[in-house]
Parts: sequence; C-alpha cells; structure tokens
Amino acid sequence: MKPIVIASKNKGKIKEFKELLAEYDLEVKSLLDFSDIPDVEETGETFHENAALKAKTIGDLLNCPVIADDSGLMIDALDDRPGVYSARYAGEDSNDEKNNLKVLKELESVDEDKRTARFIAVLAFYRPGEEIVFREGYCEGEITFGPRGKHGFGYDPIFIPKGYTKTMAQLKDYEKNIISHRAEAIHQFKVWLNEHGL
Ligand code: IMP
Repeated sequence: MKPIVIASKNKGKIKEFKELLAEYDLEVKSLLDFSDIPDVEETGETFHENAALKAKTIGDLLNCPVIADDSGLMIDALDDRPGVYSARYAGEDSNDEKNNLKVLKELESVDEDKRTARFIAVLAFYRPGEEIVFREGYCEGEITFGPRGKHGFGYDPIFIPKGYTKTMAQLKDYEKNIISHRAEAIHQFKVWLNEHGL
C-alpha cells in the first residue's frame, strides 16, 4: 500500500479524510502518528499559501506524499474577513465563542439580506520534488443574529447554509458532511486522484 500523510492533528478532520480515502489502496497516516513533527506556522496571506506551506514542510520532512488543508469563513459585508485569520479572529487567546461574538458584533447593524458569507477549504497535495496540486471547495450561506446549535465547531453556530433554515451546528454530522466546503474539496481531489493515481 502506498503511504499518504494528512498534515493535521485535528481528529475530526483526520476521520473525515480517512473515510473519504478509504476506497483507495492507501496507507493513510496523520501527524498523530509522528509525535516529533513540529507545528507548521500558518504565516501565509492566502488559504493556498498556508495549505501549500503545511504540505511542503511536512512532505519534505517525511519524504512522503502529503495532503494539507486550510479553511475559513469569508463574510461579504466584512470584505471577506475573518478569512485566513478565522481561527484567531478575536486575538491570540481567541476561541470559537469569542470569534463568533466578534463577528456578530461587527455585523450588528447589517441587514439580513446583506449577511451573505461562505466557507472555503483549500487542499494542497504534495509529492516531494513535484508541483503542488490544489483543489477547493465552498459552502455558501449567511450569518445569523445569534448562535444556535451544539454540533460541529468554529463558526458553525452562526452560519446557515444556503437553502437551509438551521445553522450548520444544528445539522447532524452526516448532513454537514454532504454540503461542507471540506467535503467538496476532498471530492474534487478524488476526481484528480482517479485520473492521475498516486
Ligand atoms: P484550519 O483550516 O484548521 O486552519 O481552520 C481555520 C478556522 O476556520 C477554524 O478554526 C474555524 O474557525 C474556521 N472553520 C473552518 N472550517 C469550518 C467549519 O467547517 N465550520 C466552522 N468553522 C470552520
């Protein structure tokens, strides 16, 4: 079996990747299998730069094919913020709750029809010595006026996917995984993988 490493320590993400790659004859590992790999700082200014940075750093360290992803929320009324700063929007000691409150405060006076937003996920696939392959996924929606729901993570409690009335955090995991930005990006990567192989 050919090895491939998911450049993440996030158990939820790793599970999602492993399930979606299960149909291939691959030995799927993650950073949880390599305790001595340092965290890669996300110093890029775009999702593509950050995903590429993670994939290349880990791929060169392990000399092995790697998939990395970078994701976030872009809100039209905030000129696409929080964007690449989604994880730490409320500052260095931010958490999901503080980030959500900051967004809601900034959108306080914004009308319902102007609260459109989208999640984006960028995947970078890197094989040492070869060009990086990128694939993207999006999930369109709008921002609520208050948090609702307990599932998921991040901005899920304040994001209603287009065509839905529930927030992402009120949907079941499997329902989110059908429409999420990450699922779409992984699907696009699988289309590439089916054509090119590993
Ligand atoms: P990263 O890709 O792990 O760097 O995640 C960036 C940040 O984007 C997360 O910490 C969340 O705040 C946000 N984010 C990414 N994907 C999702 C999602 O599916 N739901 C809610 N928030 C998300």
